Amino acid sequence: MTGEPNTKVPGYDRVFRNALIFDGSGRASFLGEVAIKGERIAMVGSAGSIPAGSGAVEEDLGGLALAPGFIDSHTHDDRLVLDQPDMLPKISQGVTTVVVGNCGISLAPVIFGDKDPPPPMTLLGGSQAYEFANFAAYASRVNSTRPAVNVAALVGHSALRLATMKDIEKRASDSEIAAMCSLADEAMDNGATGMSTGLFYPTNSAADINEVVPIAARFARRGGVYATHMRDEFDDILNSIDETLETAGKADIPLVISHHKCAGVNNWGRTKQTLPKIEGASEHQCVNLDAYPYSAGSTYLRAELVTDTYPIHIAWSQPYPEMQGRALTDIATEWGVDIHETARRLQPAGAIYFQMDEADVRRVLSSRLTMIGSDGLPHDAHPHPRLWGTFPRVIGHYARDEGLFSIETAIHKMTGLTASVFRLRDRGEIRAGAFADLVVFDPARIIDKATYDEPLQYSDGIVSVFVNGVRSYVSGAGVLERAGRLVGGNSDKLHHGFE
Ligand SMILES: [Zn+2]
Repeated sequence: MTGEPNTKVPGYDRVFRNALIFDGSGRASFLGEVAIKGERIAMVGSAGSIPAGSGAVEEDLGGLALAPGFIDSHTHDDRLVLDQPDMLPKISQGVTTVVVGNCGISLAPVIFGDKDPPPPMTLLGGSQAYEFANFAAYASRVNSTRPAVNVAALVGHSALRLATMKDIEKRASDSEIAAMCSLADEAMDNGATGMSTGLFYPTNSAADINEVVPIAARFARRGGVYATHMRDEFDDILNSIDETLETAGKADIPLVISHHKCAGVNNWGRTKQTLPKIEGASEHQCVNLDAYPYSAGSTYLRAELVTDTYPIHIAWSQPYPEMQGRALTDIATEWGVDIHETARRLQPAGAIYFQMDEADVRRVLSSRLTMIGSDGLPHDAHPHPRLWGTFPRVIGHYARDEGLFSIETAIHKMTGLTASVFRLRDRGEIRAGAFADLVVFDPARIIDKATYDEPLQYSDGIVSVFVNGVRSYVSGAGVLERAGRLVGGNSDKLHHGFE
């Protein structure tokens, strides 16, 4: 076939024009243009700087916002990315990467066979959910599944303990610690991002600093990060922060304090003590926080957390599914028993605890150390609204409507900051050479719609989402393609052949 040579061969796969660019750094947004080629951003410039017609697809955003895809720094999506790889609760919020394996809970490297996993491992499912005896098997499943979002995976200390220890109610012996360290090496060699603990939980709480430090140090040696759901977020929180800072300091590992809060009515207002302590420590050690933008938390229904000092709603109940979404006190009245007996009868169950003070939530969100993480529980029948609403809520409610901080800062807390804390190379920024994980949204409209009563709601104002250069989600049309993969650690080098 002959013909005129095309004198205007498009140089880029896609060019966005007229975009209000939030580059993820926290710097002021500006009206400009972004070109994508393959998986990466090829060029970023001011209006008119990218030659006309140089994109195979030219997209005029008409002043809509263009930001790096949001990174959910705290998730329990370990199983969701495999079983519901469209990842609708997340990609519909503009999320392009999820950090899984938090709170000491991860799928790899533990299997339970015929036994039921103990709580809190049940947050990820029953024994059939646990099918990965090593991290490599999980990594390979993530990549072959190709979820719609990228996955950065932490290895949970509870998973390590359950995989190696005879009696998890004790501190690990030296040989058990050595076994956990070998599993740490295997995980980091196969693309893990680091380690998490959940010292608050029964599967993890017998571990003292002498157990955690050598394991965390092993992760540190290969570039891992350490995230922790601390031993106590209630009355003893200051001691827990001391323990946490000392642990990470001795292991010489970057630290993330998970879902920072001062829980329980007695402790409301105490972020005035905790934040200066953590921010002070950040002068000489690497420490960050994650937080979700709500004053209620959620986990399984735990007897120790049942109280009449704040409302508790039922997220799910195996024997009484009809009680999901209802207040514990209402069920107690209906049954004519006290709340403790009510909780006992509902087991196994999950709950939403209205245990925080709004002023504390605002102070934590505002800290320069804080990243945004949903902590959503995707398997709950009536989940906390954070699962579907976290990111639009931070931008639309806290930044735009409440003026708690600028939209630039809000986006930095869910992109550039998070990528640097978890060492996700070339993610979380709009700049030439970075991966084209991008979200287009309307800054005037963006807002969460999920509520405690109606938690399964799409947010408003997200227009489209790109993952690794692929147009993956369009509002109203849903998920078009899935282009996610394991990221973080050495996973890009290992599984995809580039650094
Ligand atoms: Zn947690």
